[in-house]
Amino acid sequence: MGKVAQDKSGIVAALPAACSDELAAVEFMERQRWGDDAACPHCGATDVYQMRGRDGKRSTRFLWRCRGCGEQFTVRIGTVFEDSRIPLRHWCYAFWAACASKKGVSALQVKRITGLSYKSALFLMHRIRYAMTPARSPRLDGTVEVDETYVGGKPRNMSLAKRRAIPFSRRSRGLPTPRGRGTDKPPVVALVERGGRVRTRVVADVSGKTLKRAIQESVRSTATIHTDELSSYRGIGKHFAGGHHTVRHSTNEYVRGDVHVNTAESFFALLKRGLIGTFHAVSKRHLHRYVNEFAFRWNHRKDDDGARTVAAIRGAEGKRLRYREPRA
Ligand SMILES: [Zn+2]
Repeated sequence: MGKVAQDKSGIVAALPAACSDELAAVEFMERQRWGDDAACPHCGATDVYQMRGRDGKRSTRFLWRCRGCGEQFTVRIGTVFEDSRIPLRHWCYAFWAACASKKGVSALQVKRITGLSYKSALFLMHRIRYAMTPARSPRLDGTVEVDETYVGGKPRNMSLAKRRAIPFSRRSRGLPTPRGRGTDKPPVVALVERGGRVRTRVVADVSGKTLKRAIQESVRSTATIHTDELSSYRGIGKHFAGGHHTVRHSTNEYVRGDVHVNTAESFFALLKRGLIGTFHAVSKRHLHRYVNEFAFRWNHRKDDDGARTVAAIRGAEGKRLRYREPRA
């Protein structure tokens, strides 16, 4: 992602082997999960050993055994790849590819490189997006820009009344909707801590109730809120010590002093370019997963590619598969 290919940790140097050789992939994942001290996922004991055949090679399933409880385990236990039959070298490739480019990697590309079926590649990418979703992250603070968009376009010249008046529920019921606003897409809200993290939400509508709830749930009360003049944001200032400041996009005012939502708009620009360039058609049902993926890369933009890849792999811990892997 960065212009300079840094590799302080030596992780990027290890990745090509981990993407082509299964033993290298397993050992790479083990190192990232456990460091030098593998621990039994069943009882927590660290008195564990790798199971090996007579020839000294590791067992075909790369099993470990715990001397504490006698159970066997692998590095997959307790992660998004538990119960998956997809080789770990393909997981390594997909994690790396998803983390090393600004726009992410499509399932089609993963299929081409790994030889997996399209369905399996799609499954794998959804699991990786799930790994990238923060389990719990502290609320934003400082100056927080809030903006909403529709993937497919948010014409700034549409009247504010119209912007507010297109409930997603109406659209999803197939009722007539105003034209010209990417209206078959649900709105996405981005909350960006200036110089810091982004939090995103795919929401049902951009009513005051919805947007204010999203802000209050994501931002500390000590913060300062910046938005454009959409009336749904009106009144949010009383909940925040720094108050609420707006710019009037309708009169071509984009910056007033330090009041602007340019950071949030940069995030949206990246998201849209990526969704158009890499993913083409993203269904409403899966949109939040893709938005999460872009938020993850944004939040790790100062990491080098290796550190970002490892952050995503660590995010796979404690997350189990919630639906079945397709038979491929
Ligand atoms: Zn044990």
